[in-house]
Amino acid sequence: MNGIHRYKKNQPVNWFHKSKSKSNQYCLYCGRLVGADSRLESNKEHLIGREFVPTGEFGNGNLFNLIFRACKECNDEKSDVERHLSSITLFNSPARKDSQAHNEIAQRKAEKDFHPNKQGTLIKDSGDNFTVSSNFGPASISFSIDGPPQADERRIEFLAYRHVQGIFSLITSRDPLTAEGTCLLSHKYFHLHGSYVHSDWGNPQLLNIMERASEIPCYANIESANGFFKAIMRREKGETGEWFWALEWNKSLRVVGAISQPERYPAIFQDLPSLEWNETGLQEGARTRIRKEIPLEPEKDIMFSGMVENAEGA
Ligand SMILES: [Zn+2]
Repeated sequence: MNGIHRYKKNQPVNWFHKSKSKSNQYCLYCGRLVGADSRLESNKEHLIGREFVPTGEFGNGNLFNLIFRACKECNDEKSDVERHLSSITLFNSPARKDSQAHNEIAQRKAEKDFHPNKQGTLIKDSGDNFTVSSNFGPASISFSIDGPPQADERRIEFLAYRHVQGIFSLITSRDPLTAEGTCLLSHKYFHLHGSYVHSDWGNPQLLNIMERASEIPCYANIESANGFFKAIMRREKGETGEWFWALEWNKSLRVVGAISQPERYPAIFQDLPSLEWNETGLQEGARTRIRKEIPLEPEKDIMFSGMVENAEGA
């Protein structure tokens, strides 16, 4: 099941070397030269931040990660985004119920990290609660909803793009030590369809996407850090050659998208069932709507199952 096209199963891949000339030549994120003759400040980058998942889940470093040279600017920017998404996804993770250690880590992060969109509010206090009034026939009811903390959408898009860039380069680059052998993913081909909290992985849209994706040849199926990081990348054989990708962070949030021509809406996301929203009236002047989340039954979960083409080793 697990594997990466052309790479051995479940092992770290290291493109970093202290010597710039022996490292990957381009920053996989911004595409600038970081190799020999580069004057840009650069350092060691882990595609999956070791602190993004609960402390210790990478063990002694023999699980899959992609380690490479990135420019310092990209590296710092990503660390910042990772901190936010790590705090939120761990705080909302069902893994908290299964382990006291994970629960403590989640709690600790949420107690010291501030929400970037809510000034002065810690992650642990950043959930939305609001009152909804609704009319069902002749009856009017009112109830309040406590929502979990929400991750910042722009940061979700940013980190998903970084993860997909890294895995894309890993699969497609013949030799990252040379310019000709390096393949980079530019943002114009990157398409994010949506992100979903774990309590909603069974919604009809995601079920449909999962079903369609299962037909597409698989080039990377990654499960690392004891399941706190998952990624899958698939590519259509047809002339469009569109890629489908899905990520799962801290058993908590799934993000799905595609790599496609900028002017094309990816085929896999066309004509999906729409999600049913209920209008709930006005709340502080804004129209609100709610939707019942639908959990996924574990035995129906095929998002991260797929045999990788030409994976090495077992
Ligand atoms: Zn960079």
